Amino acid sequence: MDKLVYFDNAATTRIYSEVLKEMLPFFSVMYGNPSGIYEFSDKAKAAVEISKERISRLINAFPEEIYFTSGGTESDNWALKSIAFMKRNRGRHIITSKIEHPAVLNTCRYLSNIGYKVSYLDVDKYGMIDLNQLVEMIRRDTILISIMYANNEVGTVEPIERIGKIARLNGIVFHTDAVQAFGQIPIDVKKMNIDLLSASAHKLHGPKGCGCLYVNKDIGLPPIIHGGSQQNKMRAGTLNVPGIAGMGKAAQIAANNMDINIKKKIKMRDYIISEIRKEISDSILNGHETERLPGNINFSFKNVEGEALVILLDSMGICVSSASACSAGLKTPSHVLTAMGKNNEEAYESLRITLSSENTRAEIMYLLNCVKSAVENIRKMSY
Ligand code: PLP
Repeated sequence: MDKLVYFDNAATTRIYSEVLKEMLPFFSVMYGNPSGIYEFSDKAKAAVEISKERISRLINAFPEEIYFTSGGTESDNWALKSIAFMKRNRGRHIITSKIEHPAVLNTCRYLSNIGYKVSYLDVDKYGMIDLNQLVEMIRRDTILISIMYANNEVGTVEPIERIGKIARLNGIVFHTDAVQAFGQIPIDVKKMNIDLLSASAHKLHGPKGCGCLYVNKDIGLPPIIHGGSQQNKMRAGTLNVPGIAGMGKAAQIAANNMDINIKKKIKMRDYIISEIRKEISDSILNGHETERLPGNINFSFKNVEGEALVILLDSMGICVSSASACSAGLKTPSHVLTAMGKNNEEAYESLRITLSSENTRAEIMYLLNCVKSAVENIRKMSY
């Protein structure tokens, strides 16, 4: 192939041209500060409101429940630290899972260093949490349950609606890191009893450095960024209007094309999975067979180090990853795969292929040929 073949859409996505078009005027034409009271600011102000509306429609929230942040990491930090702070007199126990993104895990580590108790749910070999264990973990001082909507490495979709029900019955705030699910699969924060939800624009063909936190208006949340009175004093700082307009447009496009994109991606995903299983010996699919993101494929190839495979595929013009982008380059086995029961050696052997609805049949055929020959070559070299 004479062009780059991109299969790493869980790491980030190409910005849609409609999204870029929506953003551009806010850099150089309608560049007013949305907090301004003169007419020139009105367009920027309106863009923020339109974006909130589009995002809220995608998850069945109210527009006033959407707060813009710098991305998924900030949203996760805000949710966890602020609930911990707000509820510290009621209790200091938090429940999360072993397979969360570092944005949640490292925030939990920080909170445990300052006196909070954090319990980590196990997952089964498919990356699924156990609801019975969740119920058993709940204590009188449990103030927060934070479980990701879908895992960024293996794509397993967690039983969010049932977690929400358990949290609500026990009067516990429920946060979900939905960075990988937002715009990819249906989310209904009201039906699922989700109190706080983190999302990021760059995972759905929007801009990097822009995200949001949905905050159920019945719970309220103290700010962690203090300053001016932007966003009802909940998250101070001049709003990133181009980013916000882009995120709203990306959310609108995702909502309008959700059904068709899910079907398209599942068809591509299942074809790739079946071809790899057929064509490459000793290949094991990581993650859940059915409860998985439409665009996620994650395989382990016996005796093939994931990183070596990624580098070889890169030399063929293909972008894929061996674990999440945030842990790439770190010589530690995937914490997700080890939590799923893989030993350290197996946890180094993963290859993550993540799709966008824009991937073509020609790209898939090229990918399959290259993965097969790269796996064979690495195996030959290690004998
Ligand atoms: N949470 C999950 C599940 C993610 O996959 C990511 C990014 O990969 C993040 C949080 C962090 O999001 P951001 O890159 O917007 O900070």
